[in-house]
Amino acid sequence: MSSLQVTLPDGSVQSVAQGTRPMDVARSISPRLADDAVVARVNGDLWDLTRPLESDSRLQILTTKNPESLEVYRHSTAHLLAAAVLELFPETKLGIGPPIETGFYYDFQRATPFTPEDLQKIEERMWEIQARDLAYERKYTAKGEGLKLYADQPMKVQLITERAGDVFSEYKLGPHFIDFCRGPHVPSTKRIKAFKLLSIAGAYWKGDEKNAQLQRIYGTAFFNKKELEDYLNKLEEAKKRDHRKLGQELDLFSIQDLAGPGLIFFHPKGGIIRKLIEDWMRDQYLARGYSLVYTPHVMREDLWRTSGHLKNYAENMFSGIELDDAAYRLKPMNCPGHILIYADKLRSYRELPVRLGELGTVYRYERSGVMHGLMRVRGFTQDDAHIFCTPEQIEDEIVNCLEFAIDVLKTFGFEDYEAELSTWDGGASSKYEGAAELWTLAEDALKRATERLGLRVTVIPDEAAFYGPKIDMKLLDALGRKWQLSTVQFDWNLPAKFHLEYVAEDGKRHQPMMVHRALYGSVERFFGILIEHYAGAFPVWLAPVQTVVLPITDRQLEYAKNVQARLEQAGLRSHLDDRKEKVNLKIRDAQMQKVPYMLVVGDREAESGSVSVRHRKHGDLGAKPLDQFVEEVRGLVASKNVTE
Ligand SMILES: [Zn+2]
Ligand SMILES: [Zn+2]
Repeated sequence: MSSLQVTLPDGSVQSVAQGTRPMDVARSISPRLADDAVVARVNGDLWDLTRPLESDSRLQILTTKNPESLEVYRHSTAHLLAAAVLELFPETKLGIGPPIETGFYYDFQRATPFTPEDLQKIEERMWEIQARDLAYERKYTAKGEGLKLYADQPMKVQLITERAGDVFSEYKLGPHFIDFCRGPHVPSTKRIKAFKLLSIAGAYWKGDEKNAQLQRIYGTAFFNKKELEDYLNKLEEAKKRDHRKLGQELDLFSIQDLAGPGLIFFHPKGGIIRKLIEDWMRDQYLARGYSLVYTPHVMREDLWRTSGHLKNYAENMFSGIELDDAAYRLKPMNCPGHILIYADKLRSYRELPVRLGELGTVYRYERSGVMHGLMRVRGFTQDDAHIFCTPEQIEDEIVNCLEFAIDVLKTFGFEDYEAELSTWDGGASSKYEGAAELWTLAEDALKRATERLGLRVTVIPDEAAFYGPKIDMKLLDALGRKWQLSTVQFDWNLPAKFHLEYVAEDGKRHQPMMVHRALYGSVERFFGILIEHYAGAFPVWLAPVQTVVLPITDRQLEYAKNVQARLEQAGLRSHLDDRKEKVNLKIRDAQMQKVPYMLVVGDREAESGSVSVRHRKHGDLGAKPLDQFVEEVRGLVASKNVTE
């Protein structure tokens, strides 16, 4: 009998019999490895542990520790889902069932909608099949024969017609379910130890709304129960913190059907927070040597033609508005406006750097269905600035931008962040514009700036925009979720298009370096992130209502009004709850509204000029002289304390 050479990652070579499977090799190395194994890699391709090796092979056994394994595991769980659905609802037609970042899904076509009870039944059946320990059997079928085999599964027939070679692979699981599938899969259902079905959503075959409407069942799967529990807890917590839900409960903002999707209405309480966010930024602009500018919301199409937006960005823009003199467009970006201000006069090197900052509202055409609360909208306000400088100035400018970005994060209570540097391909292709010296200059400046600040940075090669490299700052919120926030982006495309110049020391005209930078990114989205990070319990300096005064009975109403007046005089945002309700109910309502301080006033407080302080998080803090309370809270507000 002939044998095969198997080369393992440590370089050792084994000679094995024909028909040997990766699982056999794993077992020969150690039973433990065989137990942990999920899938194999054979000559670079993922391969079932139970699929015989076909030739001399480089073989690696992948365990639960390898990131690729989870996808295989989740895809196998999707098959388990489909097998359970077919057992329970044999008339169902199958779409596709891939793994996704958060788990897996499978698309089904069925006249009757699946109910939440069905979902539970399906999950129970999945566990039954799991316990049967069925093998994921790989089979090979000739195309013609396969088309007959799948005759009652029209979507599979379509996929086989489009994609299958003369002979294709499929995976069988139990007597009812067989799937046209490349694999690989885990060896058998017993391997799947922790999963949960999560939701049902509508979908279209191949994502095209002209096609059949399908029901998509989402689920997730992990290698063990503990990881699954952690994930489900996090999902639960994220649901509680959903900014759309809190936005309504705390009366912060709304989206109005009559006005259109993706357009945000800030209610009075949200308006206060927005004012604080924007005031801080405008003050910082001025303190850091930026000039504050304002540019129009609509501008002529000629401008957008010059900037290249009509050519490269039109699909993201609102369509034209015809006026008597020309067609106009809502601005999707602030850059051309700032460029017109820069170019309005001839600049000398002595004036540089010119830093023009704006809180500029832009409009972008997001497709229906992709909008999401404050996170993805059609109209939003960028804290947008453009810096025009000489090549000698760029490194310091980048350092300033990054320091500014870090201050934003710290001020608003984000301790954890990281940076990503997107660079070009070193000139390997022609997709990047600008001379190699420019790229080197800019990328070196970005790198040195991060080094000077000791920033944790990941370099992502070949991910730059065609017009220049950039740094993105990502924050980690209270749930450990990563959010893209600030961007510092070089651009030599727009300065060239608008023929920007400055007169250098040599008396000649040069093109300035230009940097786009936005630190909140979008004020609306930043507000959404803040809501979720704090679960609506904003630190006292940001809280729309900082204190609520709660008289126990009408007898103390006069005193309560005096307290309220004193708080307002001290610049604290306060509400007097003078409803004729029990004080416990008023406390509960204030607690629901996540007001930091509740001030209960009864006869004793009225006589002694004090307030009984209750904190939303720390509970009862006892009685305090009113003046002392005012001073303490003013101190927290002035220092922008983020923990109280
Ligand atoms: Zn599959
Ligand atoms: Zn810009």
